Amino acid sequence: MKLLHRNGKLDVSDVVQFLYCPRKVYFMKIAGFRITKPKMEEGKVEQEKALEKLEKIAEKLGGKLLKNVPLESEKYGLKGILDALIVAEELLPVDVKLSKFSSISYAWKMQMTAYSLLVEEKFDKIVKKACIFLNGKLKEIPITPEDKKNLERVLEQIWLLLETEKYPTVIKSKKCGYCEMQRFC
Ligand code: SF4
Repeated sequence: MKLLHRNGKLDVSDVVQFLYCPRKVYFMKIAGFRITKPKMEEGKVEQEKALEKLEKIAEKLGGKLLKNVPLESEKYGLKGILDALIVAEELLPVDVKLSKFSSISYAWKMQMTAYSLLVEEKFDKIVKKACIFLNGKLKEIPITPEDKKNLERVLEQIWLLLETEKYPTVIKSKKCGYCEMQRFC
């Protein structure tokens, strides 16, 4: 991945939001609107339960679990806090999802690619796969060189949006019905 010569860093969550809809990043990072999540407390309890399960999985793999791992890279212009990292024979980044969706979206794949790059840099070890903990189960996601190239393209598109501040042209779809920005859009 080539270096990104920009000021500041993108957050890994920006990648997910951008791939959901570029306009969400416009509203949050340019217009300054915030996403509110009313079910936050309930989410915290579920998150703790998930981390307990992940601790047991890490033990079974002969390793340990690191929780809420802060990650940051000058090289990639990225930062984020990873929910969990299983440190065993392999490094396995894990994001805990509290979602009704059961399939792995492209946005989630790019999110885990971003975390994997940050983990690789911090621990100086290649990450070949990441996981999403969804509905009580670990779902593996292979992380390939192609994924890393695709992530580079996404990051460039986000930087371009932030630099030009151009209101993105998008086609509205049923996902607008789940979007926190719907009332502004
Ligand atoms: S309401 Fe639809 S078009 Fe507007 S930001 Fe959300 S997903 Fe994008």
